[in-house]
Amino acid sequence: MNSVDLGVSLPENRPVAGGCSSPIRLKGHTDHVDRATGDVRRVFSSAGQPDGVVQVRCNNRRESVCPACSTTYQRDARRLVLAGLAGGSGVPVSVGGHPALFVTLTAPSFGPVHSRRSAGKHGPAQACRPRRGVCPHGRPLGCHVRHDDGDHRLGRPLCVDCFDYRGAVVWNAMLPTLWKATRDRLESAVAAGSGRSVAALRRQVRVTFVKAAEMQARGLVHLHVVVRVDGRSADPDEVVAPPVWAGVDLVADCLRAVLADVTVEAPDPAHPDQVRLVRWGEQHDIRALALDGPDSGGKIASYLAKYLTKSVSGGGALDRPVRSLAHLGLLRVDGHARRLVETCWQLAADERFAEALDTAAGRLPGRLSGLLRWSHAFGFGGHWITKSHRYSTTFGTLRGSRRVFARTMAAANAGVGLVDGFGRPDGDPRTIIVRDWAYAGRGAPGNGPPRQDGSSGGVVSTGGRS
Ligand SMILES: [Zn+2]
Ligand SMILES: [Zn+2]
Ligand SMILES: [Zn+2]
Repeated sequence: MNSVDLGVSLPENRPVAGGCSSPIRLKGHTDHVDRATGDVRRVFSSAGQPDGVVQVRCNNRRESVCPACSTTYQRDARRLVLAGLAGGSGVPVSVGGHPALFVTLTAPSFGPVHSRRSAGKHGPAQACRPRRGVCPHGRPLGCHVRHDDGDHRLGRPLCVDCFDYRGAVVWNAMLPTLWKATRDRLESAVAAGSGRSVAALRRQVRVTFVKAAEMQARGLVHLHVVVRVDGRSADPDEVVAPPVWAGVDLVADCLRAVLADVTVEAPDPAHPDQVRLVRWGEQHDIRALALDGPDSGGKIASYLAKYLTKSVSGGGALDRPVRSLAHLGLLRVDGHARRLVETCWQLAADERFAEALDTAAGRLPGRLSGLLRWSHAFGFGGHWITKSHRYSTTFGTLRGSRRVFARTMAAANAGVGLVDGFGRPDGDPRTIIVRDWAYAGRGAPGNGPPRQDGSSGGVVSTGGRS
């Protein structure tokens, strides 16, 4: 519960902030303790609240789960990306002049799928896959339809038996590892490309990034990444311009070379005793960002933020973990998505394979294997948005400053100053804040019984990972 801050010293019997439709109920209290005397003041307790609980926002990023929190999430994501491109939220405006790239990375093909082809981005649609003949399963190898943007067939395999579902799921599971290897290799490549050692490079240059993961219609995750090149100064917290030699062309060339041959090893679902090399697809897009002011930065930030609030599938049936194949049977989900989830469950039935995959993917052992925990995301267990430490601010910081703002406003409206349990100004170092809160269900009082952990939808999500 460390992301839930209940250091509220003002009475609050208001409804959940921001109209959250799926609030989390908590029971407990917050005490202020005098560091010197050990004197304890209970400043807030759920005991005096309706039903003996307080409600906090779910902070879910998906619109289908909570429209209000999703809107806030999208706004925060946009701010977080924008701050790293144009400054703000503690980042100097001068970052706008740093070399930066906007990169889209995709998975390889796991079998032909219906797609919208056109000459140019907004050109008229062309035939999907002009080809004759049939596959070994007797299905046509080609498709002569000109698919429109909204066509439900887009991303679906031409033949479900030709599509390598197991390969697709393993690729999704390995994506965070592949990205990490790519980042590491990029640093070595830039060092080599500039005739320096990695240690020498790190003394002068820092590569930071923010990335958003998007689930494509074909059920594979792809990444949108902003890469920014900073210099380093004696003060590690200072963001300064990089040396001239660390320009956008050098970084882009190195990245291209790395993407073409970086691989990571995963267990092979077809031959459990062998390894399979996991690599990027050939469809990447690397663009230098021309940042001439907050406008272009804002456009990119909005573009990235848009992906973060999308559901894994349009129907939203897979917004939450799938508990069993019987549970999957009750969900309304299209055949392709269903088969991807089923593949996760089938692969997980081989415990040795599931364990080997978790090890390869750097996933900590849990009660369930990663394949089961993230079957609803077709094996992908990574975060939907991640950034390097120095890129810009964090969701936590943005939420924290919003809470401080709300409390300051509430105090001002009540005509009181923002003080702690001892009447000292908020944040006084002589006061220690002790919070003791426990999960007490989900949903607003009056909307039926609270849902407890383990029952329908009982996953506490306060961040971007679910
Ligand atoms: Zn919510
Ligand atoms: Zn087609
Ligand atoms: Zn086939």
